[in-house]
Amino acid sequence: MLLKNKLQRIKSFLKSNNILTSEEECYCYAEDSSNIIKSEKKPEVVVFAETIEDVRNIIKYAYENEIPIVSRGAGTNMVGSCISDNGGIVLNFSKMNKILEINKIDMTAIVQPGVVLGDLKNAVDNAGLFFPPDPSNYEVSTIGGAIAQSSGGAMGLKYGTTKDYILSLKVITSNGELITLGSKTSKNSSGYHLAELMVGSEGTLAVIVEATLRLIPKPKIQMSVFAYFDDIDNGSSAATKITANGILPAAIDFMDKNSIRTVESYAKCGLNTCMEILLLVTLDGEEDSVISQTELVKKILQQSGASDIITSKNNEESTKIWNARRSSFASTTRLAPDVVTDDIIVPRSNFSKMVKYCRDIAHKYDLNMCMVGHAGDGNIHPQIALNLESEDEFRRYMSAKAEIYDKVISLGGTISAEHGIGLEKKSYLQEAVDSSAINYMKMIKKIFDPKNILNPGKIF
Ligand SMILES: Cc1cc2nc3c(=O)[nH]c(=O)nc-3n(C[C@H](O)[C@H](O)[C@H](O)COP(=O)(O)OP(=O)(O)OC[C@H]3O[C@@H](n4cnc5c(N)ncnc54)[C@H](O)[C@@H]3O)c2cc1C
Repeated sequence: MLLKNKLQRIKSFLKSNNILTSEEECYCYAEDSSNIIKSEKKPEVVVFAETIEDVRNIIKYAYENEIPIVSRGAGTNMVGSCISDNGGIVLNFSKMNKILEINKIDMTAIVQPGVVLGDLKNAVDNAGLFFPPDPSNYEVSTIGGAIAQSSGGAMGLKYGTTKDYILSLKVITSNGELITLGSKTSKNSSGYHLAELMVGSEGTLAVIVEATLRLIPKPKIQMSVFAYFDDIDNGSSAATKITANGILPAAIDFMDKNSIRTVESYAKCGLNTCMEILLLVTLDGEEDSVISQTELVKKILQQSGASDIITSKNNEESTKIWNARRSSFASTTRLAPDVVTDDIIVPRSNFSKMVKYCRDIAHKYDLNMCMVGHAGDGNIHPQIALNLESEDEFRRYMSAKAEIYDKVISLGGTISAEHGIGLEKKSYLQEAVDSSAINYMKMIKKIFDPKNILNPGKIF
C-alpha cells in the first residue's frame, strides 16, 4: 500500500487532472483484454504522462522507492501484459499521443508512444507513404503497445511486423535514465541492436517515450480476391500454393466455417455460410503487376478446388469483406459470456495440418471454436466462446490449449506469433523456448531492471 506521503510526492510531479487514486478509477485500469487472467489487485495510482519529463520523474521515484510500474497504451493486449497484479503505478500514455514529424525524404515518422495506430496509418497515408503493421484493432491500439508486444497483422506476410519498422527509440530505464537506442538512418550496424531488444519486451525492460519509425512508399493499387472452399484441406493448402508459386500477396487470411457463420449472423455482409473455409487474398503494388498476379492467384485458387471466387471490383467491396474478417473476435463474443483467443504459428508447410488439428481438438473437447488467422504466415487464431465460470468448460479448454501447444511445437511452431506472453502464456514458455535462451532473457531483464519494478511477473 502506498503511504500517503508517497502519493503526495507522485502528485507533485503531475498536473492534478493527470492522476487517479480512487478505488473505482483505479479498478478500471487493473485489467486488459485478456479474459482468462483476472487481476488480484488494482493499481494504487494511475498517472497520465504528458511529457518525457513526467515519465522520468515517476520512474525515478518508483525506482528509489521500489514501486512497480505497468506501462499502458489502450489496454487491448490479450495476454494479461497490462494486469496490475502487484498494485503500484499504472503509467498511462494516452495523453502522449502526438505525431511529432513525418519526413517524406527520409521516409520516417517520429511519434509519441500513445499515438493510436489508426491515426498514424492515416497521417502517413495522407503524406503518400505507408506504415504496414495492422493488428485487427489498429483503430484503438497504440504504437507503444504495438512495439512492446511486437504486434503483427494481416500484412505481415509481405511487410513483416512492427519490429521491421523500428529505427530508433527513446526509452527511460528503470533508474530514470533517458537513453536513445538505434538511429534514424535506414541502416545501422553500430553495436548491439538494443532498440530491437525492446520490441516484444512487454514493458519489462524500459519505458518507450518516443519512436522513430521506418515508412515505405505507398503501393499504387490494391486488389483482393476472396475464395470459398467446401473442403478445409483444399482451402488451407491453397494458401501455401500461392506463395510456393512465387507470388507474395500483401495478405492471405482465412476464416473457417464457424467463424464465417458467426460473423455473418452479426455483421450481415453477405458471406457464404455453407462453405468450410474462406481465403482472403490481397495483392498490392504497381497496377500491371497486381493485375497479372491476381489472374495467377485466381488460377491457383481454381486449381486448388475453390468453389466460388470473388474479385473485389472496388475498395468498398474489399473493405466490406476484410471488415468482416476483422470483426470476427467481436462477433464471437456474442456466442457465450467469454471468449478466449490464441495466437499460434507453425511453418507455412504445416498450416493445413494445424488447422485440422485445432478443429479436431474442438470436437474432442466439445468447444465452440471459430478459427481465423493469417494463413500466409501459418498464424492461426482459434477463438473459443465459453463460460469461464463453468469449471467443466474451463477444464476442457485448458486441456485443449495444452494439446494444441504440444502439437504446435511438434510441428516446429511457437506459442505466440504476435500477441506476446504476458501472464497468460508464461507457464508454457519453457516448452516453446530453449531453456538457455530463457536464462539469457532473465539476465537481460536483471541488467535493465535490477529492482524488478517494470511490469514485474510478466513473460517469466
Ligand atoms: C479485438 C482485438 C484484435 C486484435 N488483433 C490483433 C492482431 O491482429 N495482431 C496483433 O498483433 N495483436 C492483436 N491484438 C492485440 C493488441 O492489439 C496488441 O497487443 C496491441 O498492439 C496492444 O496495444 P495497446 O495499445 O492496447 O497496448 P497495451 O495492451 O496497453 O499494452 C501492451 C504491452 O505494452 C506495454 N506498453 C504499452 N505502452 C508502453 C510504453 N510506452 N513503453 C513500454 N511498454 C509499453 C504494456 O506494459 C504491455 O506490456 C488484438 C486485440 C484485440 C482486443
